[in-house]
Amino acid sequence: MQENMIMYNRFFVENELYAPRLASKKPAKKTAILTCMDTRLTNLLSAALGLKDGDAKIIRNAGGLVLNEYDTTIRSLLVAILQFDIKYLAVIGHTDCGVSKLAPANIQKELIDRGISQKVLDDFSSKCSAFADWFTGFNTIEEEVKKSVRLLRNHPLMPKDVSIHGYVMETETGALSHVL
Ligand SMILES: [Zn+2]
Repeated sequence: MQENMIMYNRFFVENELYAPRLASKKPAKKTAILTCMDTRLTNLLSAALGLKDGDAKIIRNAGGLVLNEYDTTIRSLLVAILQFDIKYLAVIGHTDCGVSKLAPANIQKELIDRGISQKVLDDFSSKCSAFADWFTGFNTIEEEVKKSVRLLRNHPLMPKDVSIHGYVMETETGALSHVL
């Protein structure tokens, strides 16, 4: 972490800037949101939905998507649902998502350029059944959000009383469209 962030942290704590943010760990809005790690959404998403600390569980990964039934994101969502009384689950993709442009060949070249040997890459990818999907982009975020919503709705461990919907957020304005 950059030193200026550590220094700011001391300032934050010494001046009790945390005080207005104190909240319960049980989400007040009984909502969990799966969204993208895009830095433009860090504060925009909460602001655009009127969420403050304590309102919702927000789980972020590359794309805000679930790739398969065993995706570790499912673990986070199930913990949220079972341990924190979540009743509403929202998958929120966003426009201009960088993940859409991923290409496996480019990522493999970058890994090799960064010192990972072809043998290590081959060994790893042969053991990881989802590896091909990790770095594959997509055409439309709407379709990807729908796939994740369907996967979650049909997941064998998903309690049926959880409401699951998919949305796309406009990255500049925060405008939300319901897609499924
Ligand atoms: Zn994204």
